[in-house]
Amino acid sequence: MALDEYTRKRDFNKSPEPVGTPRRSPGGRRPRFFCVQKHLASHLHYDFRLEHEGVLLSWAVPKGPSLDPSVKRLAMHVEDHPIEYGEFEGVIPSGYGAGIVMLWDRGTWTPEVDDVDAALKRGDLKFTLDGVKLKGSWVLVRTKGGGWGSGGPDRSWLLIKHRDNWAGPVDIAEFAPLSVKSRGDFADILSEENPDIWQSNRPAKGGETGALFEKIIHRAVEMRSSPPAKRKATARKKKAR
Ligand code: MN
Repeated sequence: MALDEYTRKRDFNKSPEPVGTPRRSPGGRRPRFFCVQKHLASHLHYDFRLEHEGVLLSWAVPKGPSLDPSVKRLAMHVEDHPIEYGEFEGVIPSGYGAGIVMLWDRGTWTPEVDDVDAALKRGDLKFTLDGVKLKGSWVLVRTKGGGWGSGGPDRSWLLIKHRDNWAGPVDIAEFAPLSVKSRGDFADILSEENPDIWQSNRPAKGGETGALFEKIIHRAVEMRSSPPAKRKATARKKKAR
């Protein structure tokens, strides 16, 4: 089953993440859900998720997506996530993925190919995004040979923006760092977290998880107080018609 690995890695008594059940998804070239979750865990990364056949295909992108077509961003293929996960934002107090999850972008994606499964097997999936921050044509390319979903050395892909009206020399992660759900940053999510969940799942004070979480809280506050880098507001051109 597609969600076995997702389920095996988590203790849903301790994590607020959704259990999830596989669902039906649109087929062919019809648009379906996508999202990017900015995840402050032991390392900051961006989880890029595309709905396909009832689950969210997922890649962890350490540096986040880039709108610059000359920039290839490493994307590690990870386990499928339930579609419900696509709306998740909050604090994972302990265990796998412990940290803060921000819904950084969401919208729809449309395959630019008829057969998504064949494209995944081939290691070359072209698609169009219609999100709040990410738009236009993109490609995911596998860097090594091997199969799809077999784990091991073939998990490494590159996420690349195609040249179009939505491409530009802008660091979108820097330019648009906040949540599309709550409009907040990590520190906001931490403090505005549903008090019930936060109280009942308060991270252990001692041990490795406690130490890690202390670091994550510190980092969230640090990221808030650091001045934004030079902002280029020009990259997002109006859609040409
Ligand atoms: Mn993650």
